[in-house]
Amino acid sequence: MTTAPSIDQVFDFDALLSEEERTWQQKARTFAQERLLPVIEEDFEQKHFRREFVKELGDLGFLGMHLKGYGCAGAGAVSYGLVCLELEAADSGWRTFVSVQGSLAMSAIHKYGSEEQKNRWLPGMAAGDLVGCFALTEPQGGSDPAGMTTTARRDGDGWVIDGAKRWIGLASLADVAVVWAKVDDPSGAFGEGGSAVRGFLVPTSTPGFTATPIDGKLSMRASVQCDIELDGVRVGDDAILPGARGLSGPFGCLNEARYGIVWGAMGAARSCLEAAISRSTSREVFGKPIGANQLIQAKLADMFLEVEKGILLALHLGRLKERGALTPAQISVGKLNSVREALAIAHEARAILAGDGITNAWPVMRHAANLESVRTYEGTDEIHQLILGRELTGLNAF
Ligand SMILES: Cc1cc2nc3c(=O)[nH]c(=O)nc-3n(C[C@H](O)[C@H](O)[C@H](O)COP(=O)(O)OP(=O)(O)OC[C@H]3O[C@@H](n4cnc5c(N)ncnc54)[C@H](O)[C@@H]3O)c2cc1C
Repeated sequence: MTTAPSIDQVFDFDALLSEEERTWQQKARTFAQERLLPVIEEDFEQKHFRREFVKELGDLGFLGMHLKGYGCAGAGAVSYGLVCLELEAADSGWRTFVSVQGSLAMSAIHKYGSEEQKNRWLPGMAAGDLVGCFALTEPQGGSDPAGMTTTARRDGDGWVIDGAKRWIGLASLADVAVVWAKVDDPSGAFGEGGSAVRGFLVPTSTPGFTATPIDGKLSMRASVQCDIELDGVRVGDDAILPGARGLSGPFGCLNEARYGIVWGAMGAARSCLEAAISRSTSREVFGKPIGANQLIQAKLADMFLEVEKGILLALHLGRLKERGALTPAQISVGKLNSVREALAIAHEARAILAGDGITNAWPVMRHAANLESVRTYEGTDEIHQLILGRELTGLNAF
């Protein structure tokens, strides 16, 4: 029997990366292997989010790493994607943390915040001293943010926010929440003259802000998502993000996070494929390794194709992003494809592992369960199909 090379060696993907990109990837792979993997099965089982890793991720430069200034690393889009891939190869929960902190909360402040807001929040968030969350989804349906019912009412020299949000990552641990609300400013005194979606930076210690972790999750168990209640939350004018007007504000951030998922889901897929290969060469049935059967090899080959195609697609999108040319429809291609194929790979790997595949002796069921969340957040499959359908036909079918 010849020794099986690692997946990376088969394709020589490294040759397409710069030295700097490989360094970021290696840093994330080392963190994933040395810090996350030894504890992740237990954390998933115990529903435990390891807060102490936040500071370590900050020290490594991963938080808001694609942003420039304010203590952020200013790395390229491909470097950021590779970090997402390596973290999600350990667990989607930790890539999700980096996405929520860096691509959603920090991006919102970086893109739309005043200088004062950026200086107040971004350096601490990049360092992992402060945690942010991004509160867009509401209990009555996340796919249509235009239907949000949370309001910010003009009151004296500030705003009063009322409403509810659901599924908000990290909200119970966060120091600041980026809350999206419809402003109610009929007099136009603040320049709105009606209602429009605006973003508010709400310190989570503000009276009336309550975040309650959602229990009973069978997915993303090593991370935290919450219900938020906003009950007469009073903030000043300095809380409003001056650069975000309308839904293009939150969508600008969602596109950043969706881009990270294109890479991240392929990390989970790679781990599932590695588990299937390992089992194929070690498990003997009918007097030979199961991987010596053509039917098993056909499955491994097909899984390998999709991992490599997915990573190449992610790299293409990353290079477009670095040139400032990446479009929302292209991001939808990547998000839809990566998560769909990663889930299919996780399911096929589980079948190859058979009985033992349903236990936590292997990471595959955990990845499969996590990927169900990844499939739903940042736009469900159907939402991305509708975006692509509109792109192809010019007809809006939402
Ligand atoms: C683990 C996790 C973390 C999350 N983190 C955050 C976060 O940090 N911040 C945040 O704001 N949100 C977050 N979310 C929320 C997430 O973005 C929403 O769950 C998602 O947008 C879907 O909303 P929903 O669950 O309310 O489903 P719904 O919107 O109720 O959709 C139900 C189903 O209907 C389908 N559907 C809806 N409209 C159409 C249509 N026009 N045509 C065809 N099908 C349609 C959907 O695809 C879906 O299958 C998170 C969710 C999860 C599970």
